[in-house]
Amino acid sequence: MSRLSINNHDRDVAGYQYIYPVISRRSGGLSIGINFNTNNACNWRCVYCQVPDLKLGSAPDVDLDLLAAELAEFLQDVLHGSFYERFELEPEMRVIKDIAISGNGEPTSVKEFAKTIALIVQVVGQANIADAFQYVLITNGSLIHKTDVQQGLKLLHENKGQVWFKLDSATEEARQAINHSALNLNRQTENLLSSESICATWLQTCMLNYAGKNNVGLVSSAEQEAYLAMLKKVIQQTTLQGVMLYSLARPSLQPESSKISRVTTEQINDFANRIRALGLVVNVSL
Ligand code: SF4
Repeated sequence: MSRLSINNHDRDVAGYQYIYPVISRRSGGLSIGINFNTNNACNWRCVYCQVPDLKLGSAPDVDLDLLAAELAEFLQDVLHGSFYERFELEPEMRVIKDIAISGNGEPTSVKEFAKTIALIVQVVGQANIADAFQYVLITNGSLIHKTDVQQGLKLLHENKGQVWFKLDSATEEARQAINHSALNLNRQTENLLSSESICATWLQTCMLNYAGKNNVGLVSSAEQEAYLAMLKKVIQQTTLQGVMLYSLARPSLQPESSKISRVTTEQINDFANRIRALGLVVNVSL
């Protein structure tokens, strides 16, 4: 038995391969995480990434029968079993807030992404969840140009889902330094526009200090100007839901861990206000 807390993000806590429950301070209840990247592989390597033994690569083939069985069993346990009691959750947290496609790597890198999303939606539908939960896809957005990924986004949209799309910088230098992303900014911007055109999309943006690299991390005015200029262009063409702005919450498991640090409350609030001045909703969490 274990007590789940906002700090307990152990993906093995419930004993499943693909399903991991998290009590989310952001959402105020139970978040049911679904992890396709059981091999800890991502096509990016963000300096703040908390995935242990992160490797460069894609998600392995998903065992769809096992995923469906685990999800059905877990939902049964939450809705009709003793899950909340066993994990001693406070009464106000006993609500399913979201089903998050998010894991130890980039979830859209899985083969047959749309088919996998369709299966999840089917299993969840059969469980008859009364809570007003939401589907969330947490992605770095780098594969949204792929037809299969867009099909998956359509399914999420049809089920009132959201995309949380990572954007930590609008300069090539900082994106390389922070995310080690091979994707150029134009492609990333096009993917963001595609994402929003298919499914409600929030930006997820991490502000950080990077020792020895004072020009990256949205703490420099040049970085902020580039980010705001990009946002201005994006919101001329589409309607973003808003920006989730945050800093480092937990220690990075990457070699750069000792070089990066949280920004101050004042820094994050100042930048949030600059984004709000564009007419966008900004949720800050530190
Ligand atoms: S995109 Fe996510 S999983 Fe991939 S390296 Fe960055 S933080 Fe880690």
